Amino acid sequence: MKLKTKGINWLRLTLQWGVILFILILAFLPDLTKIGTPDFEAYCPFGGLQALGSYLLNQALSCTMTSTQIVMGIILFVGVLIFSKLFCSFICPVGTVSEWLGKLGDKLKIRFTITGIADKALRSLKYILLFLTVYYTLQSNELFCKKYDPYYAVATGFSIDVVILYAIIALVLVIFGSIFIRLFWCKYFCPLGALSNIFKFSIFFVATLAIYLILLKFGVRISYVYPLAVACTGGYIIELLGQKSRFFPLAKITRNTSSCTDCQLCTKQCPQGIDVAGVEIVKDVDCNLCGDCLLVCSVKNTLTINKRKEFKWLPIFAIVVLVTLGIIMGNVWEIPTIDLKWYGSEEMADAGVFTQSGLKNVKCYGSSMAFANKMKQLDGVYGVATYVKRHGVKIYYDKEKLNEEKIQEQLFTPQKKPIKTLAKGIETVYCVSLKLENFFDSFDFSYLSILLQQKTNAVGIISEFDCPVIVKIYFPEEIKDKDELRSIIESATLTYNTTNGPTTVDLKFKVSGNPKYYTVSKGEYIENMFTAFEKSFNHKNDYTNDVIETYYLPLGKNRALRNKFSYIVSHLSNDDGIVGFRTKLDDNLKEVAEISYIDSITNITNITNALLSDSLNVSYSNGKKGKVGNMFDFSEELKDSLIGK
Ligand code: SF4
Ligand code: SF4
Repeated sequence: MKLKTKGINWLRLTLQWGVILFILILAFLPDLTKIGTPDFEAYCPFGGLQALGSYLLNQALSCTMTSTQIVMGIILFVGVLIFSKLFCSFICPVGTVSEWLGKLGDKLKIRFTITGIADKALRSLKYILLFLTVYYTLQSNELFCKKYDPYYAVATGFSIDVVILYAIIALVLVIFGSIFIRLFWCKYFCPLGALSNIFKFSIFFVATLAIYLILLKFGVRISYVYPLAVACTGGYIIELLGQKSRFFPLAKITRNTSSCTDCQLCTKQCPQGIDVAGVEIVKDVDCNLCGDCLLVCSVKNTLTINKRKEFKWLPIFAIVVLVTLGIIMGNVWEIPTIDLKWYGSEEMADAGVFTQSGLKNVKCYGSSMAFANKMKQLDGVYGVATYVKRHGVKIYYDKEKLNEEKIQEQLFTPQKKPIKTLAKGIETVYCVSLKLENFFDSFDFSYLSILLQQKTNAVGIISEFDCPVIVKIYFPEEIKDKDELRSIIESATLTYNTTNGPTTVDLKFKVSGNPKYYTVSKGEYIENMFTAFEKSFNHKNDYTNDVIETYYLPLGKNRALRNKFSYIVSHLSNDDGIVGFRTKLDDNLKEVAEISYIDSITNITNITNALLSDSLNVSYSNGKKGKVGNMFDFSEELKDSLIGK
C-alpha cells in the first residue's frame, strides 16, 4: 500500500505532535526539562483571558493565574484578529487528538458531519460553557476551566483541581465524540473556540465592551454578568445567523475561480468540513487558517491567503512568532499579583516607592495578602504591589514618616538557628561575622543553614539586619580554610531532600567586604542562640504580681519540641488558673519553663496533671477544638521543679 504523503501539511503536523511530545515529557520525564514541578496551564491562553478578567475585577491574581497566561491570552486575541484561530489548528492538544481520532473514524467509515438545525443548536453549548466558566472564575478568583478541561485532567493525572465527573464527561465527548462526529468537542463544546469566535465578531465584541465601560465611567454600577451574558448570547446568535466572520480575521483563504479545476480536493482535505471549493473567500467561522487546503491544491496560485501566493507559509510563521513572543514577553513582563492602595490619589501622588526583590516568602496570592496585611500595620505605608514570579514587592510610602532603610528593617526578620549540638567539653566557640549580599528573607536563611549543615561543621547561625544583612556563623573549632568557607557560602546552587525528592535551588549569596573572626565562650554562644518563647493567656494582665505564682520546670529533652510549645500552652490554658508560659535560661544556662498561675484558682497538682496527661486538648486558630497525643515527657523534669514568685 502506498503511503499518501502529497499535500500533507508536515509543518503543522510537526508542531502539533511536538506540543504533545513536550507535554508527555513534562508529565513523565520532568527532569529532562529542568522545569521542576510543571504547570500544565502555564501557557494556556484561555486561562490567561480568565485571569485577565479576574485581575481587572479584583486587582489580584490567584496562585493559579500567571502573567504569562495573560500575555498568551492577549496574543491569542491579536492572533485571532489578524490570522484566525491558529492556536486551535497548530497548538491545542485537544484539537490535535480530536483531528486524529476523526481520521480513525473516517478510516472506519463511522464519522459524519452534523449539519442543519442540529448543528446550529449544538453550537450554543460552547457559549453556555464559556459563560459558566468565566462566571465561576470571576466569582471565585480561581480558574474554573481546570475542573473539567480534558487536557488538564489527563496531563496532571486528574490533579486535585479536577472534578473527576466533569473531566470524565469532557474526555468522553472528546474521544468518542471525535471518532463519530467531526470535531465534536471543538465545534460544540470548547469554550475557547466560542471566545475566539466572539473575537472574530470583533465589532460586536468591542461594542459590548465599550458600552459596559462607558456605563461604568458614568457611575452606572452594572455587574460583569450582563456584558458576559450579552457577549455569549450575541456570539451564538451571530454564529447561528451566518456562521461567517466578515471583516476579521484579516487573513482569509481565497480561491481563484478562473484557474480552479473544481477537483474538490480542498473541500475533502479541510478538517473542518468547509466547502472551500464552493466559495471565493473562506469566511466560515470554523476556518482556523490551518493551511491544509493550500497544500493539497495542485493548481498553481489558485488557493492563496488574501490572493497573495507568498503568504502560503504565513500561518505556521505567524504561530511560531506569536508563541515565541508570548513566551518571551510572559517571562519578562509581570503584572502584580496584588496591587493594593489604602490611601487616596492625593497621598499617592507624593508617595515614595520602595522596591525589593528576592523575598522568597512572597510566592503566591496568599503570601502576598499576608505581606500586605503586615505592611498595613506600619504607619506611613500607603499600599503595596507584589510580583511573585521574581519574589518582588513595591511599597508606596509617606516620605515624611519613612525612608527606604526603615522599610527594609521592617521587612527583615532576624533569625537564629542551632545547626548541630555543641559537643561536650567545648568551652570556646569560633565565630565568623560577615555581610551577605542577596540574602534577606527566611528562605535565604534556611538555604544557608542547610548548606552549612551539608558542607561544614558549623553549629549555629544568626542573621541581623543591616545593609547588606549580617550573618554570624559559629563553629566548634577554629576556621582553618577561610577561602573554602567563603566559596561554600557563595555556592551557585543547593540541592536538598524534600518529601517530593531532591530539589535544587539557585543561590546568589555574595560575601561583602572582609569577614570578622572572633571567639565567644560557650555560655555566650548559648545565650546568643537562645530565643525565649512567651505566651500570656486567661487575662493574665488583670492580676497583680502579688497573686501570680510561678512554677519553674526544667525543659530537659522537651526543649527540642520548641515548635510544639503552642500545643502544651493551649492545653494548659484550659485551666483558668494558669495564665502564662515562658521559657528562659537559668543560671546554669539550662532552658526552663516558667508557668504562671493563680494560687486561689488552681494548684501545682492540677498543673502537673495537665503536663503529664496522655493527650492534650487544644484549640486551633480557626476556633476548632481537638485532641492530640501528648508529645512532651516531663516525668523526669518534674522532680527538679520549683515554686516561686
Ligand atoms: S478552509 Fe483551509 S485553512 Fe480553513 S480550516 Fe479548512 S483547510 Fe484549514
Ligand atoms: S483543490 Fe484547488 S483546484 Fe481543486 S477545487 Fe480546491 S481550489 Fe480548486
